[in-house]
This record gives sequence, C-alpha cells and structure tokens, in this order.
Amino acid sequence: MRISMVSEHASPLAALGGVDAGGQNVHVAALSVALAARGHTVQVYTRRDDPGLPDRVQVQDGLEVVHVAAGPALPLPKDDLLPYMGQLAEGMVADWGNQPPDVVHSHFWMSGLAALEAVQSAADDGARVPVLHTFHALGTVKKRHQGAEDTSPPERTWLEPSVGRRADRVLATCSDEVFELKAMGVPGSRISIAPCGVDLSLFKSRGPAEPRGRRHRIAAVGRLVPRKGVDLAIQALGLLQEAGMADVELLIVGGSSDCAGLESDPEARRLMSLARSLGVADRVLLRGQVPREDMPAVLRSADAVVCAPWYEPFGIVPLEAMACAVPVVATAVGGLIDTVVHGKTGLLVPPRDPAALAAALGELLQNPGYARRLGTAGRQRASARYSWDRVAQETEKAYQLALRGVPLGQARPARLQPTGGQAL
Ligand code: UDP
Repeated sequence: MRISMVSEHASPLAALGGVDAGGQNVHVAALSVALAARGHTVQVYTRRDDPGLPDRVQVQDGLEVVHVAAGPALPLPKDDLLPYMGQLAEGMVADWGNQPPDVVHSHFWMSGLAALEAVQSAADDGARVPVLHTFHALGTVKKRHQGAEDTSPPERTWLEPSVGRRADRVLATCSDEVFELKAMGVPGSRISIAPCGVDLSLFKSRGPAEPRGRRHRIAAVGRLVPRKGVDLAIQALGLLQEAGMADVELLIVGGSSDCAGLESDPEARRLMSLARSLGVADRVLLRGQVPREDMPAVLRSADAVVCAPWYEPFGIVPLEAMACAVPVVATAVGGLIDTVVHGKTGLLVPPRDPAALAAALGELLQNPGYARRLGTAGRQRASARYSWDRVAQETEKAYQLALRGVPLGQARPARLQPTGGQAL
C-alpha cells in the first residue's frame, strides 16, 4: 500500500521531551518504520519548523519524511497551528501530483482536518482515498481536566468531533478512548483499536543501567507539563521519607535539553520549589531531556518507574519501563488501565492521590522479589502484545477495512490523468 501519514506538529525526526514532542512523535516514527518494513511505502507529512530542513528526508527503504511549508518555518506551539492546516493540505496534494496514496492516516485533530481537505481535493479529481485517524489526545478529556488552563483553540470543540465523524475509520489507542469517541458521536462500527507499541530491540531487560546516587531510585519520565503529575511523585517521596524510607532518590527526566532552559522552565521551577518545601530537594534530580538511545539505561537504573498523570491518552513510558523489566506504579487512567495489569506488571493507584502512590512505591521498594516478578511479567506482556510489528499489523487491518468501505469500482484510488495528457 502507499500510505500518507500526516503529523502536523509531531515530526518523527524531532528530539523528544520538549513541551510538544513526546508520544505522538514516537508513535508516528515507529509505526511508519514498521509499516515500511512490512513492504508498504510510507510518506510522513509534517510542518516545516526550521528553514534549514531539507524538503525530504529518506529515513529507510520505503519511508520518507516530507517537510511541508505551512506557516512560518519556526517552532510554534501546537495550539497555534490551526490556521496553517489548509497550507499543509495543499502541500500534500501538490506532492501527490497525479498519484494520490491508497490511504491517508492522520495524527492529532488538526492533521485530521488537513487530511480530510487533501482527500477532498483528490476526490474532486476523481480519486477516492480513505482517511484513518488517530487522535492521540482528545479535547473533551483535556478540557475536563484542565478547564481554563486548556490552551487549545476554541474551534477544537466542534472541529475535533467533526474529524471523528468524517474520517472513514478512527483508530483508538485504548479501550477508555473508545468510550470517549462514542460519546463524541463516532459510531462504534467505525472504530478500531490499535495501541501504541514499544521498540523491543531498544528497550530490553538486559543492558547497562546508569549508576544511582542512593539505595533506591524512582524514575519519572515525560514532557514537563503539569498534567503528567510529577508533583505527585515528589509528594510521594516526601511521604516515603516520613514513613522512614529516606534513602530514595527521584529522577525526573524530560523538559529542556540544557541547564539554562531547565532553570527558566516554569514547571521545573514549580517542581523544585515543591521539593524544597517538602524537604526532599536534595533527593530530587532534574535531568532534563534524555536522548532516546540513553533512555533504557535510565529506566533500568530505577527500582520502579512512576507515571502519575491526571489523565493519559495512552502513555508510552510505562510500556518502555515494562519492556526493560522495571515495575510501574501508575494512575488508573486512560491507556494505563490497558497496559499496566495491577498486581501482575505493576501497581495501579487512583489519580491525584500521593498517599496511594507512596504506599505502592513503598511496597515495591520493600519487596524487591515482588518488584522483580512484576518487572519480568511486564517484559513478557510488552513483548507479547505491544511490539510495533503487531501494532502495524492491527493498523493494516484497519486500512483494509477502510479500503473495503470505498464504493465499488474505486477500491483503489484511480490514477489521475495529467491535464491534457494520455491515460497512464
Ligand atoms: N522521551 C524521551 N526523552 C525525554 C522525555 C521523553 O525520549 O527526555 C520519550 C519517552 O521515552 C516516550 C515519549 O517521549 O517514548 C513520551 O511518550 P508518552 O506517551 O509517555 O507521553 P506523551 O509525551 O505522549 O504525553
């Protein structure tokens, strides 16, 4: 199949850990690699955010990233990108020329708009190309949790559900998302589940672990944004100290790549000020961004990885920890309900409950044999269910279902005739 991926803000080539660069970048990159390895031809269309970027980057056989001029060639917050989706669509259509792809798979609501506009333009020229959409995050859920702090453009309220209703199929990453999608008006018959995966050859149970500074280490990894609940992990560290477990450090990974950036980051400052007020600042290590290839050694250095978000559309970090055979303590929200099996691969706790978090972490730190068993089972679960090849196969099935929905006689997009030319 010829597949066009659309990922407006999340380039598969971007460094991870910044405010707008996380799971979606990983997902688009790894899924595209896995689909190309299965013999498909994949083009990933993303916004040019640096004038120095080449127009096209060949990543491997069958996989190319195309940088489309859509708005200023500068890094912009994703919440400012809506006005440029028309340009992204135009860039894609121009790149397709007279050979539109078999399917378009868009990621995040704004890419969905660009994808739908691009296939409309192809349809005007006689080709019917189905759009499959992965939301990665839903505005309804974000608004519910962030209220007035939500910086999404107001148009998201009505445009996002319209993407869900107009796309040929929606790919939910977890069962919790299916409920949310149905509540948004997406018919269940048009929803498939294709979770995120984990790179099992990078995230392994054996391999180097970076040295730690205390007897115990807990790690929290992710973008430094309040909803990730890193403050709850700091509070749990304080509670562990009160309970007599003082020789524990909390390593926080994510945020800016350099020291100056980290020092001026409002979330990093808030977290350190909380740590000081709880008397645990000497045991909280703010590492900043860690390159992907160093992440396994970081995860393996921890007794447990803590993921305490208020809500989480999917959450790749717990899967990465599981693949490294490190037990996870996670809040029972979103995708974490599917990935972390309570008492088998980790422990689930209610959201925004530092006491429950501290109790679960304490249980693992005091019972290393139990923690090891959870870690081993985590690796098994990650290998059995979350390899990117398996996710690619599930995604492929959804593509085939969407192609079958294309009206008879147009099951594959017609090759268009160049103006005034001969049929190809
Ligand atoms: N990540 C990274 N370096 C960092 C911080 C995060 O490579 O400094 C990666 C992390 O390993 C994971 C992704 O970014 O692969 C975060 O994905 P997740 O789904 O957990 O969170 P999201 O960012 O999508 O909310």
